[in-house]
Amino acid sequence: MKSLGVYVQIPFCASKCSFCNFSSKVAPQVELDSYLSSLEREIHLVASRPRTSAGRGRLIGRDLLDLPVDSLYFGGGTPTLLGGDGLRRVCEALRQHFRSADAPEFTLETTPGSADENLLAACRDLGVNRLSIGAQSFDDRELASVGRLHSGNDVERQVRLARHAGFENISLDLIAGLPHQTRSSWLMSLTRAIELEPEHVSIYLFEIDEKSRLGNEVLRHGDRYHASAVPDDEFMAAAYEQGQALLEAAGVVQYEISNFARPGFESRHNRKYWQLDPYLGLGAGAHSFDGCARWSNTVLTGDYAARVSRGEIPVTEWHALTESERIEEFFFLGLRQRIGIDLGAARERWGHAALEPWQSRIDVLVQMGVLQQSGGPLRLAPGHYLTSNEVFQEFLLSQDSAGSPLASALHS
Ligand code: SF4
Repeated sequence: MKSLGVYVQIPFCASKCSFCNFSSKVAPQVELDSYLSSLEREIHLVASRPRTSAGRGRLIGRDLLDLPVDSLYFGGGTPTLLGGDGLRRVCEALRQHFRSADAPEFTLETTPGSADENLLAACRDLGVNRLSIGAQSFDDRELASVGRLHSGNDVERQVRLARHAGFENISLDLIAGLPHQTRSSWLMSLTRAIELEPEHVSIYLFEIDEKSRLGNEVLRHGDRYHASAVPDDEFMAAAYEQGQALLEAAGVVQYEISNFARPGFESRHNRKYWQLDPYLGLGAGAHSFDGCARWSNTVLTGDYAARVSRGEIPVTEWHALTESERIEEFFFLGLRQRIGIDLGAARERWGHAALEPWQSRIDVLVQMGVLQQSGGPLRLAPGHYLTSNEVFQEFLLSQDSAGSPLASALHS
């Protein structure tokens, strides 16, 4: 454990997209201002927690605060809603307490149209060097149908402004499976995204789950939120594969199930999640991991504010992983990456006996062609990225993993 990722959650948006299953919300400026003060307070509280005995291994885990921060990620939500001054206040609070590594990656999420020249310049001054833009689509009908406030042209304008401000690392998010999406509109979105020459692209499949208004309506076979215009699974699979092919041809190489990058521009921060490296989450609903335990802050912004105003660290869930849960996470998260996982290193870390129960299941999945291993790392076969959840559940079937939060998440 040599470095730390810090994630700052800003759970506010200018509008709520119908497909969104995050805990973000639209709120008046006064609530954003109050949240900003709570966030500063949480940073000071976390940083001034006792470093000995009772504080250890509980709530803040091991001494994460002493590690140099090599990735900082402001996500949400739409963090740019804080404006230059708000972002500066958060950065100053962090700089008071955290040690920066050399050349840290500093990512800021934004939506097209929500960061003008002045804000982008302020972000550059603060050290932001990676901009993640939620484009989602370049088709105006698709964007309007899910409640986005921007157009396809706004995405292009946002990228141009960011380049002009000096950003050399830009990521674009796209979603396959939005209402009214067709093969030709998806091809158009991919083509326009590639023409902008982003260093990084994420392709997500629209998730049909009850946590979003659109997902819930699709499950109910209703017609609100353009639910009846959501394309089917076959379309989504073809769209994903087309995205893989076009991005690869453009030199934007797939390195994880949903992520593609030009060599050297893979997200350092997200890699921490897949490689079980430590990260500290700050803000309402933010998650943390120290290598041994996972914990999360209360998701309700009112409860979050109340807790920190009482001088409490706002952690409401904490789970120390057993060794078998850690191994399980090593498999599920590691196999999301194209580089796969190093079983030799895993045996050194946990011992042969601990890995033994997994071997027969691995052998079966390798024989089925779902996993690949020819002397090197164990990998998900490229044709099975789309069915990765089913593959991971194969592992779950063979293990008693009901208590793992990750297992629960995979089942949900
Ligand atoms: S901008 Fe992002 S976080 Fe906000 S509602 Fe839309 S999808 Fe959710």
